[in-house]
Amino acid sequence: MLNDQFGRQFNYLRLSITDVCNFSCSYCLPNGYQCDTPRNFLNKNEISTLVNAFAELGTKKVRITGGEPCLRNDVTDIIKLCKNTPGIEKVAITTNGFNLLKKIDEFAEAGLDALNVSIDSLNPNLFKLITGHDKLTLILKGIERAVELGIKDIKINAVLAKQFNKNQLKDFLAWVKHHKVTVRFIELMETGDGATFFEENHLSGQTVKAQLLAQGWLQVVRGKLNGPAEEFCHPDYDGRIGLIMPYSKDFCKSCNRLRVSALGKLHLCLFAEQGIDLRELLNEDDTAATVKAIRAAMGNKEISHELGKRLTGATTHLAMLGG
Ligand code: SAM
Ligand code: SF4
Repeated sequence: MLNDQFGRQFNYLRLSITDVCNFSCSYCLPNGYQCDTPRNFLNKNEISTLVNAFAELGTKKVRITGGEPCLRNDVTDIIKLCKNTPGIEKVAITTNGFNLLKKIDEFAEAGLDALNVSIDSLNPNLFKLITGHDKLTLILKGIERAVELGIKDIKINAVLAKQFNKNQLKDFLAWVKHHKVTVRFIELMETGDGATFFEENHLSGQTVKAQLLAQGWLQVVRGKLNGPAEEFCHPDYDGRIGLIMPYSKDFCKSCNRLRVSALGKLHLCLFAEQGIDLRELLNEDDTAATVKAIRAAMGNKEISHELGKRLTGATTHLAMLGG
């Protein structure tokens, strides 16, 4: 098992497979994807070496993310190779869902266990305004298909921002009443490119928590290795509500994840200064050296991010690393 000096255990890898995205979410890539990095993303062999190394170190769960991971035409093969790696028990993907309806059958067949889809509003006009794309109905059909296929762990990610907030909680509560999915509200995080949007839009998740508790929602007790999200359930609702509040005290105490960028850099925190380059080792298919490099890097993991001091590290936007 991978540990750090603060007693945290890391059993979860978030792997970005591209930083390209076709959406232009106003809090992430408001001007769309700018092609300012080389596009030689990790290939399947390199990904296989990486996932094997993490599995040897006790990683049980891999989340495939981006940019938009479903823009890669080998995304299904990547799901399959992660799922077939000895030691990996759970494979998840985070997507904007633009081609989910087309892809979800083959994802399920490849062994996908968990699906996160980003939907910030259930109002089609607002959704289009936020993302630049009029695809809400199609995305919701993709989710219905995932439910039909029996994918049990389905989460919707909704960023909390003042300008999206009108009716957001009310609409999602009405939706989870009859949908067995978890809607997770994520506090807007500041990024290098997003300082002004952050200043104008940041909203604490505590206001949502207070509303949920007042309406009879109960906080679910979660295991030690479950990560920093808080979850709530209600006897009258099929689905659940979650809250991710990175600005709250002790958020980083339950950190259980490490990140690797699409170019093969290990990031010890979403808001770290720089990544540790594993590319050469991956390219040489050197699992043992990759294991050693990851283990050696752990000594440098900080106790917490410094978002409270408005230090965003090298992260200009979350499409770089996948959130
Ligand atoms: N394109 C995919 C998607 O949107 O689901 C995967 C990558 S996206 C960067 C991963 C998650 O990060 C999404 O749920 C998105 O809403 C969230 N995100 C992006 N920028 C954010 C920010 N500044 N603060 C909080 N969450 C953010
Ligand atoms: Fe693309 Fe996801 Fe960022 Fe939206 S949040 S711009 S879908 S990477």
